[in-house]
Amino acid sequence: MLKTIAGVVLDMDGVLWKGDEALPGMTALFDHLNARNIPFALATNNSMKSPAEYVGKLAQLGVPKIDAAQIITSGVAAVEYLKATYPKDTSVHVLGGDGLKGLVVAAGFPLHYLERTPAKVVLVGLDMHVTYDKLCRATLLIRAGADFIGTNDDATFPTPEGLVPGAGSLLALLRTATGREPLLMGKPNAAMFAAALKIVGTPPEQTLMIGDRLDTDIAGAAKAGLKTALVLTGVSSRADVERAEIKPDAVYADLPALLTAWT
Ligand SMILES: [Mg+2]
Repeated sequence: MLKTIAGVVLDMDGVLWKGDEALPGMTALFDHLNARNIPFALATNNSMKSPAEYVGKLAQLGVPKIDAAQIITSGVAAVEYLKATYPKDTSVHVLGGDGLKGLVVAAGFPLHYLERTPAKVVLVGLDMHVTYDKLCRATLLIRAGADFIGTNDDATFPTPEGLVPGAGSLLALLRTATGREPLLMGKPNAAMFAAALKIVGTPPEQTLMIGDRLDTDIAGAAKAGLKTALVLTGVSSRADVERAEIKPDAVYADLPALLTAWT
């Protein structure tokens, strides 16, 4: 399977690093890809950091020369979807952080602020300054007919104190308040893989997704037609693979094991 691979999509947390520590084989993996001129993209559901911040984190961990355009967050995937779906003057109401708003503005869409005018799209990400008033605004716009888009459905995210509400928790509230289902952008949904394939530029069947989660990385990539490799350095275990409906094309203990198989 690895012999046919011409491009790679990489998950980050649990594949390249855990917290602030690089996992074994991380720099060797980039050396391997660069030496063979294999194009790659990095894809994460976490839209809290901007692509530029991920470039900084990679450089800090010893991987220089990554371009911000190679990094796809669920926010980036959402904006790529907006660009492919709506005319440029479509007003987008964002319930989310400044990073997400910045991506929408940079793509040329006017942000919707006016309280009593309709919006074509309500885009929801994690807003750490969420208020009841903001939730009312998003609810009213969705109930009035705006398209309802969510960056990702992760219910929680980890902090040093424990798990706290993620974008999925805000979406749960809006689902309840509107009776509508959001169109989701992050893995395992199609938008994320469409954005990644556009960057890598290889056909899906010659593109390898390397991830640590069966339900997002592997299931989503398989559905999008990519080849899949699970590494056991993150969330999913070998026992999870036994139980999984969609199985990865290959399972490796870690990146060094994958690289050994690839030479
Ligand atoms: Mg991961």
